[in-house]
Amino acid sequence: MQLYSPRSMESPYWNEYLETMPREKLDQFHLRRLQHLIEYAYKNIPMYRDLYDKTGVRPEDIKTLDDFREKIPSIDKPDVVRFQSYDPPFGDSIVKGSVDYHTFFFQTSGTTGAPLKEVGYYRDAVSNAWPFKWWAHGIRPRDVFYFAFPFGTFMAFWAAYHSAILLGAQVISSGGANTQQRVQQIMEMEPTVLVATPTYAMRIAEVAREMGIDPAQSSIKYVSSAGEAGYVVSTIREATEKAWGAKGLDMYGLSDVWGCDSFSCPANPDRLHLAEAVAYGMVLDEEGNLVPEGGQGEWVLTNYGTVSPMIKYRTHDVVEWHKEPCDCGRTWIWLRHGVLGRTDQMVTIKGTNVYPTAIQSIIGEMEGLSGNLEIHFLTEQGTDAVQIKVEPAREVPAGEYDQLGKKLANELRYKIGVTINVEIVPPGSVPRYEVKAKRVFDHREKK
Ligand SMILES: [Zn+2]
Repeated sequence: MQLYSPRSMESPYWNEYLETMPREKLDQFHLRRLQHLIEYAYKNIPMYRDLYDKTGVRPEDIKTLDDFREKIPSIDKPDVVRFQSYDPPFGDSIVKGSVDYHTFFFQTSGTTGAPLKEVGYYRDAVSNAWPFKWWAHGIRPRDVFYFAFPFGTFMAFWAAYHSAILLGAQVISSGGANTQQRVQQIMEMEPTVLVATPTYAMRIAEVAREMGIDPAQSSIKYVSSAGEAGYVVSTIREATEKAWGAKGLDMYGLSDVWGCDSFSCPANPDRLHLAEAVAYGMVLDEEGNLVPEGGQGEWVLTNYGTVSPMIKYRTHDVVEWHKEPCDCGRTWIWLRHGVLGRTDQMVTIKGTNVYPTAIQSIIGEMEGLSGNLEIHFLTEQGTDAVQIKVEPAREVPAGEYDQLGKKLANELRYKIGVTINVEIVPPGSVPRYEVKAKRVFDHREKK
């Protein structure tokens, strides 16, 4: 059965029925799926049976979405890592007896702590979310995808690759080629969609220019990214769109809860829609209470249709959520400006919450600066502090660095309302990353 087959090439939706379903109906759809998932997980996955027995909750207790939110305990990465260690190699957090059907093995990129192991079926929920995004933006089976990365155990790359196949498009993998070879391949094979992290897409453009090639004149019509703060931050998107003469498409997801992806809205580029066909999302405050629509809090996700479902998984990502129907016609939840920060990466300076993406946005808007930067969280005299290292644009002479730094510090003080230490460092001194750029470093003393 073709669950996600589109109605016609002209339709702006990959699955119009699901994407435009009225909220009330969508909630009923989620409730039924959650009830089924909890019953299934309780019966087949030791981790959930153990957690629910300890909490005293039974699958039949979940009669409403409020029951789900109030009675089902949330899970966190350390819980899953612990249950994975009980019965190696895949542990007690997957469906027992499913091993004969495993076709994938991945490991999360492990932002903090031990990486998660992930297994899945072919066409598991992991590859079902991305076609919604691509289709929404006009990518069709006639398009040709170029994947500018080495395929390791980083799941997002494989998810993108399988999703492009699911969409029906042609795929080109650049494998272990270096950046110059990738530029040449793009020029020779004329792909229309470039898939890379935002930082690496800019790096390819930089190398192309060094080779005397203008990337804006290439065949690339779309740059599709994921894996770090991306095109939902307008300044990062605009820089990429300008460099490539292409449309920048963002995607936010976590390998930990695969399939729970959100994608750029075609009508409002500062919005990300959760692919509610494959995931259920809600925003909770520190006490686990539901944050009203329009409010900010922690994004808590549940994914459907995998052998290792995550039910009420705490992402530690801070988002602002909205449920009113969007101009694009979708009824799916949207997040303004994507992920605003991490619950563990937010600093509070004199009562003001400061998130890395806000800093990145301001840097991106200022003339004379490049997007290459590092943000360091420190403890100074017992309180949180922020230090930024940022590279200037290449044409800025070294004699102007001090002045540029002062200008940025003023801008940050004016727009965020706090004092942030700024250091302008010479071009090329901030490391470049092919896979996931590490921009935020937390050196704070543990309290
Ligand atoms: Zn929309």
